[in-house]
Amino acid sequence: MAKKDGFPAEDLFCSDHGLTYNDFIILPGYIDFAPDDVDLEANLTRNIILKRPITSSPMDTVTEYRMAIGMALLGGIGFIHYNNTIEEQAEHVKKVKRFENGFITDPLVLSPNNTIADIDEIKAKYGFSGIPITEDGKLYSKLVGVVTNRDVDFETDRTKKLREVMTTEVMTARKGISLTQANEILKKSKKGKLPIVDEKACLVAFMCRNDLLKNREYPFASKDGQKQLMVGAAISTKEESKERLDRLVQAGLNVVVIDAAQGNSLYQVEMIKYIKKMHPSLDVIGGNVVTEEQCKNLIRAGADGLRIGMGPGSICTTQTTMAVGRAQATAIYRCARFARRHGVPVIADGGISVTGHVAKALSLGASATMMGSMFAATEEAPGEYFYENGIRLKRYRGMASLEAMEKGGAKRYFADDAKIMVAQGVSGAVVDKGSLFDYVPYLIQGLKHSLQDMGANSVRKLHEMLFAGELRFERRSLSAQIEGGVHDMYSYKEPKYM
Ligand code: GDP
Ligand code: 5GP
Repeated sequence: MAKKDGFPAEDLFCSDHGLTYNDFIILPGYIDFAPDDVDLEANLTRNIILKRPITSSPMDTVTEYRMAIGMALLGGIGFIHYNNTIEEQAEHVKKVKRFENGFITDPLVLSPNNTIADIDEIKAKYGFSGIPITEDGKLYSKLVGVVTNRDVDFETDRTKKLREVMTTEVMTARKGISLTQANEILKKSKKGKLPIVDEKACLVAFMCRNDLLKNREYPFASKDGQKQLMVGAAISTKEESKERLDRLVQAGLNVVVIDAAQGNSLYQVEMIKYIKKMHPSLDVIGGNVVTEEQCKNLIRAGADGLRIGMGPGSICTTQTTMAVGRAQATAIYRCARFARRHGVPVIADGGISVTGHVAKALSLGASATMMGSMFAATEEAPGEYFYENGIRLKRYRGMASLEAMEKGGAKRYFADDAKIMVAQGVSGAVVDKGSLFDYVPYLIQGLKHSLQDMGANSVRKLHEMLFAGELRFERRSLSAQIEGGVHDMYSYKEPKYM
């Protein structure tokens, strides 16, 4: 019988060479379905399923509440970093859980004793001037009025108190109102703002007429049983994490990831056991791991998911400095193949820099991907944009860069008690990507086309094909990689996203 064209993953990834995403290619399959028929649903952990296999890294320049809200609305999930106080991390989790699509659940609020100058300051900093006024200037306190541009634009005395200029006859809606109903009120009333209040007339949210067109539904959003957005968070293996986790769970956390560069440790095994005992219904992702032996220990301890990657991250210097790690494609296949036998899904973490890498990670058995650099320059990532040589950038840094470790990130690397800190990451900047809400849909559409080319109409089917040896692979020589990129052009314009 003639030998089948191409090679099964087993031949490529179980040899003495560690392969990266760029070292191999997937041979095309048979297409009998449209890209929009591709089902991207897959397990993040034993018990959590995502409609889109994407997650954002727990890094202080990547995931805080805005990123986590965006990721969940778009069908993935964000993991809040822990380079902050317990209160701060729990507050990010709460903000995601409180979020209601279309409603501003953390509006800027002032008190009647603030002045018009305070509104001017908000306008200069954030660009809006419609402010709800409550008795003590805080959310969840009694609503007493609203100030909009029209109340203050012709006032010459900017030291005037808001109590003198605010509109006190305010139309409100009750907490629990649906987005559709609230939108209707805004449309009919011709008012610019709609405060949402509870039964005691205390402010709980705010709506702006200008958002009417933006208030779309997100059918693939990742939600829990209470219809709230899902959110993850990272903790370390340190003792402090036990209290941290209690607070995160109280805030409504759905899944925790134990953040460690080398996850196969006594500390992590004990932490997983502790979490499973104290919070049995919380799914725990262990990691990071790259070998079967490492997976075995964490699965045995009770991990519900595994995070794969040691050294492939864009900001990472681990393989160079520590001489330990593994090429990412090989790591994913070996770990996915092993963990599958135990019903534990794996997440491909780090080193993803183009849409094709997401597709390759899935084709090697990962059920989800985790990205830092891909999302670090979106509007939803923490930090302000700045310009360098006329290019709009955002800061992005490794959690083991000296800068981040000084702020607390060293917990991931067992280095926070060390007298001399050895960096395993760098700090720098990435180019503006615009909003996550434009970027992720592009990425997802690319992914669907990719699975279509492979002949797999779902991630589950792709994994079946992979482990049955039906998905065929080939190594790429250096010249094959050059041939596969743009070449021989005098000039060309790169697409906005790759
Ligand atoms: P304003 O009339 O000056 O308040 O501004 P617009 O209503 O034209 O635009 C305000 C935009 O900022 C809307 O897209 C809001 O969703 C957004 N926004 C985000 N946070 C807040 C907030 O705390 N208060 C207000 N008023 N808007 C916010
Ligand atoms: P990226 O998507 O940018 O290629 O990689 C992000 C991943 O790199 C993170 O999810 C995390 O696993 C890893 N990472 C984050 N900070 C550091 C660091 O300072 N050093 C190392 N070795 N890895 C890091």
